Amino acid sequence: MSEDTVLDVRHLKTSFFSKKTELPVVDDVSFSVKKGETLAIVGESGSGKSMTSLSIMRLVPSPNGKIVGGEVFFNGKDLVQQNDKTMYKVRGNDISMIFQEPMTSLNPVYTIGEQIREQLIYHQKISKREAHQIGIEMLQTVGFSRANDIMKDYPHRLSGGMRQRVMIAMALSNNPKLLIADEPTTALDVTVQAQILDLMRKLSKEYDSAIILITHDLGVVAELAERVVVMYGGQVVEEASIEDIFDDPLHPYTEGLLNSIP
Ligand code: ADP
Ligand code: MG
Repeated sequence: MSEDTVLDVRHLKTSFFSKKTELPVVDDVSFSVKKGETLAIVGESGSGKSMTSLSIMRLVPSPNGKIVGGEVFFNGKDLVQQNDKTMYKVRGNDISMIFQEPMTSLNPVYTIGEQIREQLIYHQKISKREAHQIGIEMLQTVGFSRANDIMKDYPHRLSGGMRQRVMIAMALSNNPKLLIADEPTTALDVTVQAQILDLMRKLSKEYDSAIILITHDLGVVAELAERVVVMYGGQVVEEASIEDIFDDPLHPYTEGLLNSIP
């Protein structure tokens, strides 16, 4: 494993169990991500992209879902083997994740400010006043000019794009070494998608964190990623640089995917 490898996934296998049958949904998946690199995972709906990221975070829905094999090396530790307490810390401090629909990740009964402050105070052991100040700065970083007002707002008062920017701000507030973004722009309209992508591009440069970008949109891949992993039926069927994948796709499925771009 090279020195600047942030995450190294090896032969990861995750299955769902019902009665006596085992359905593998992540089936012998291997890839790695380097510092400062954006790796895209693409593939049709149901190909196992989300389950791969949830497996990395050890958030596979239990009791039916289970990681049954493989390793996920992060910071020299195999996350598959860590206890819940360690994983809780990893999820708060080292790896951040943003999802497709940000509404479900924000608590409707607390203001944006309360949620940002609580997260910062919990993970960074700072005062409420400091947390408030950092919160304002974070919101400005993701493009809110009236950050003070946003802090006082409740999630339902914001548009989908605004909520996603809040989630990105929260995801970055702990300076994660790895950001996993699972279809971060799918629920947004096209102009807002472009804003969010610009923001992610800017932030990946500024913070030099590794990014795993999950998407079924190859346009997004071409804009943001340096390398692509293509999944099909729970397996990695192709891995290539962004240039190679567009110029000379090796797997028939990848070719089909490229041909389907309007
Ligand atoms: P993608 O993110 O690529 O659209 P997923 O990782 O969400 O795909 O799903 C991979 C497979 O796992 C699919 O076949 C899906 O039906 C199955 N799956 C997802 N969640 C569950 C669950 N809670 N129970 C059983 N099967 C599931
Ligand atoms: Mg998914």
